[in-house]
Amino acid sequence: MANSLYNALPTTIFTVMSGLASEANAINLGQGFPDEPGPRALLDAAARALVEKSNQYPPMPGLLELRRAISGHYARTQGLDLDPAASITVTSGATEALACAFLSLIEPGDEVVLFQPLYDAYLPMVRRAGGVPRLARLQPPHWRLERAMLEALFTSRTRLVVVNTPLNPTATMFGDEDLALLSEFCVRYDVTAVCDEVWEQVVLDGDRHRTLMAYPGMGERTVKIGSAGKMFALTGWKVGWLLAAPELSRTLSKAHQFLTFTTAPHLQWAVTEGLTDPGDWFETMPRDLAASRDHLASALRAQGFAVLPGAGTYFLNVDLAASGIAEGDLDFALRAVKEAGVAGIPVSSFYESDPVTHVLRLCFAKRDETLDEAVVRLARARDLSCAATRAA
Ligand code: PMP
Ligand code: GLN
Repeated sequence: MANSLYNALPTTIFTVMSGLASEANAINLGQGFPDEPGPRALLDAAARALVEKSNQYPPMPGLLELRRAISGHYARTQGLDLDPAASITVTSGATEALACAFLSLIEPGDEVVLFQPLYDAYLPMVRRAGGVPRLARLQPPHWRLERAMLEALFTSRTRLVVVNTPLNPTATMFGDEDLALLSEFCVRYDVTAVCDEVWEQVVLDGDRHRTLMAYPGMGERTVKIGSAGKMFALTGWKVGWLLAAPELSRTLSKAHQFLTFTTAPHLQWAVTEGLTDPGDWFETMPRDLAASRDHLASALRAQGFAVLPGAGTYFLNVDLAASGIAEGDLDFALRAVKEAGVAGIPVSSFYESDPVTHVLRLCFAKRDETLDEAVVRLARARDLSCAATRAA
């Protein structure tokens, strides 16, 4: 017999929508990945390393050269002081890093505080680790943390809090007030924070990413998770990392050693080069993405769609209800991909309870022509949806 939790799990919405998009030969603005090939220097570095370097097991916590490069990157960009030998574990993507954190930090029955909307991998992994989720709901349009919300959730049984900033799918970031408030509760209740910061370099409009790890009292109780796939627009690479104080880090690496043990060496070498010598990548990448976001937003507005503000990630959200669409987001997304040839992600998929059901997430990390054609198709989907609503 299979495990009942996994037996009952649906296939992730990202796979469902990408599958429907390829069946229908649709434009895929669903699953978040860029349509550009990625930075040439990193592709060349990976190709070179594949033939010139060892392809045998790299060290379990990751190549020391990569851990040094990660430490240097965060010292420069976020003022963090991370010991490459004791505070960094390289993982096969942020997804493995999340699994390591949940498996190694949760005791059965521990309460885990999470905020909806949330990335769909969290809850199944928390539950499989024996955690008892305690869910709060962030409120649009600002999606901020509130004192009353934390007062209601944190108890002496709380072991972990999971925080994602910049936040997928809202494309917003927690500000200083949110993080200061959260750190106050973590310290008061002796809670460890698992910070999913995979989008930390995809911060648009010149804003600065803030990390909970840097707040007073949080250095010893934060697990910070990053993803080279997101940093370098190479989402298939699956090179991520766990950053934590040495004692926590030792525990995390016990999970990593028996999940994957290590990560493909040529990709680790290439990420080492990318972090050591990024050139102007961390300036041009967000600038180009902001231009794509603005392009998509104005094309959508020109067609009468209501667009929600977004300051990070690859995503722009459309308020379907305010755009004249009465259908729920899942129904509309299915209609759009099957009947109009354009895929998006219904934001209701990021909720377990009491979902927001009128928002569609679109990935704008695409060429302008692709975005323009997608908007034409979305307008067609809206016409079809309105006709179906009238007929009903
Ligand atoms: N967390 C969030 C919030 C994400 O959006 C993603 C993927 N887009 C991940 C984790 C997984 O990252 P990775 O591909 O490095 O496993
Ligand atoms: N994180 C990506 C997104 O939000 C999807 C990753 C995946 O497909 N699992 O689109």
